Formats: sequence, C-alpha cells, structure tokens
Amino acid sequence: EVKMQGRHGYCFYAPEMSQRSAASQRIENVLRHALAHGELSLQYQPKVDAIHGHIVGAEALLRLQVDGVDLFVPDQFIPVAEDTGLIVSIGTWALREACLQARAWQREGWAIPVSVNVSPLQFQYAGFYERLDAILNETGLDPHLLELELTERTMMSGGDGTIRLLRRIRQRGVRLSLDDFGMGYSSLSYLKHFPVDALKIDRVFVRDITLDAETAAITSAIIDMARSLNKDVIAEGVETEVQSTFLREAGCSQMQGFLFGAPMPAAKFQERLAEQPA
Ligand code: C2E
Ligand code: MG
Ligand code: MG
Ligand code: MG
Repeated sequence: EVKMQGRHGYCFYAPEMSQRSAASQRIENVLRHALAHGELSLQYQPKVDAIHGHIVGAEALLRLQVDGVDLFVPDQFIPVAEDTGLIVSIGTWALREACLQARAWQREGWAIPVSVNVSPLQFQYAGFYERLDAILNETGLDPHLLELELTERTMMSGGDGTIRLLRRIRQRGVRLSLDDFGMGYSSLSYLKHFPVDALKIDRVFVRDITLDAETAAITSAIIDMARSLNKDVIAEGVETEVQSTFLREAGCSQMQGFLFGAPMPAAKFQERLAEQPA
C-alpha cells in the first residue's frame, strides 16, 4: 500500500490519483525503455540570420520515435521526465549527443552553434556544471559552439546560487539564452540581472504580431530593449513572410520557425548546411 504525504501527515493512495497517473506511468515506462535501448533521438531546427536567411545555428530537440513516428511529443514526455527525475539522465544524454553532433559539424567545416534545452530540475540537480564540463572535455567541442536554453522559471528558481552558476557556465565559454521570453514572470527589469547572451521571443508573440497591434508594439519594445542591453534577439515559431518581415524591420537578429525549416534529423540538417557557403 502506497502512502503519500498529505494534510494530516499521510494519506492513502486514492483511486483518482492512480487513474491520473496511468498515462504518466506509461510515458515513464516508455522513457525508461527508450533510455536503456538508445531509442531517444535529437532533431535539429535551423536558426537563420534575419537579413540573409543563412543558417547560423541549430536547436537540438528531443524525439521519442519508433520508425520515424512520435510515440509521445516533448510537451507530453518532458513533464513526466521532470516529475520522475529521469530528466537528469535524459538531459545529460541530449547534451552529450548534441555536443558530439556539433563537434562532427565543426570537423566538416561548419562552425554551427548548437543549442540544447535544459530543464529546471536538470539545472538545479547537484553537479550540473561538472557534468557539462566533463562533456565538453570528452567531446572536444569548442564551448563557444554550445548554447544552453533556459526559461525564466529556471533562472529565477535558485536565487544567487543560480546566477553564480549561470556566470560560471558563461565563463567556461558556453552561450546562454533565455527561452520562451514573455511567457513567464517576464518583468523586463529582471532581464538585466540574467547573465544571458540571447533572448528568444516566444512564438505566442510571433503568432499574434500581425493580428493585434498591441502584441506588435510589445514585441518591438522587447526587441529594442534586448538590443540596448546588448543581447541577441531571436524569434521562435516564425511561420509566415509577413511575420518575418515585421520582425526583421523591428530589429530581430535571428529567426527560427517552420518558414525556414522544421526540426529535422541531423543528416537532413547537414544537407541544408551543404547547400550554403561555409
Ligand atoms: P522550445 O525549446 O521552446 O522549442 C520550440 C518548439 O517549437 C519545438 O517543439 C519546435 O518543434 C516548435 N516549433 C518550431 N518552429 C515552429 C513553428 O514555426 N510553429 C510551431 N507551431 N511550432 C514550432 P518541440 O520539439 O515539440 O519541443 C517542445 C518543448 O519541449 C521545447 O520548447 C522544450 O521546452 C522542450 N524540449 C524539447 N527538447 C528538449 C530537451 O532536449 N530537453 C529539455 N529539457 N526540454 C526539451
Ligand atoms: Mg528551446
Ligand atoms: Mg522556446
Ligand atoms: Mg517552449
């Protein structure tokens, strides 16, 4: 019989809890199996220069697929991986895999920075810096070719300790970017405290810039402010030419979205790189 901490110190496992966790149990089993059998993969989505459209980077995104078909999408399995602690192993795997890929591209003559998403739990878990450092040493990747994407939730979670850790990572030469900007606590004044190189404007803003004048104004203001703080600005979820034109004219330096390419397997991404001057 499973006991859980409750209001009165403990409570018995309730049927509705076991029902609610059935889907998450199944995802957990699939994740454990995938981790043990090498069935996780990464896809890479181009980040392009806003002016010329050249690929200037890649975001590595986890996939849980069998024969190219998603068993679950990240929005389903990342929360389960967080709840179960599996994100520490999965995230470490993703980080090493992305570094190996970036190193391989570097050897082929494409110095393309690859960014990797890092979950709050993974980041706060003891030894994150040491694991990162070991992976960089082991893969031999130039740290400037690695970028970590963190959300505001992660950056605000651990107080001074978190800021110190961010500084240490940056001193190692790794770039940091603030993902999903605008979705969280998003007080613009916080931005100056976060030691980040880039800010990624969430796709919810991008989606609405052409539909709603207020969103357009806010997005322009975010871009201006980020630039005045000397940070790169990248827009995510760019799907149309109209959005792209607006963002470019507003001063956004990089873009990412289906307009320029959906996440794709490494081999496909490399074909895209081969089509453009090194
Ligand atoms: P994210 O880091 O904000 O990644 C961007 C998501 O937007 C990706 O979804 C990407 O496929 C999707 N996307 C890109 N361009 C477009 C577009 O033009 N339109 C639309 N509608 N969507 C677009 P994906 O791959 O399903 O990942 C979802 C989230 O899961 C990511 O959001 C990230 O938070 C998380 N995630 C993915 N891989 C990892 C990982 O390796 N580690 C961790 N901790 N989280 C990950
Ligand atoms: Mg991201
Ligand atoms: Mg994002
Ligand atoms: Mg997201």
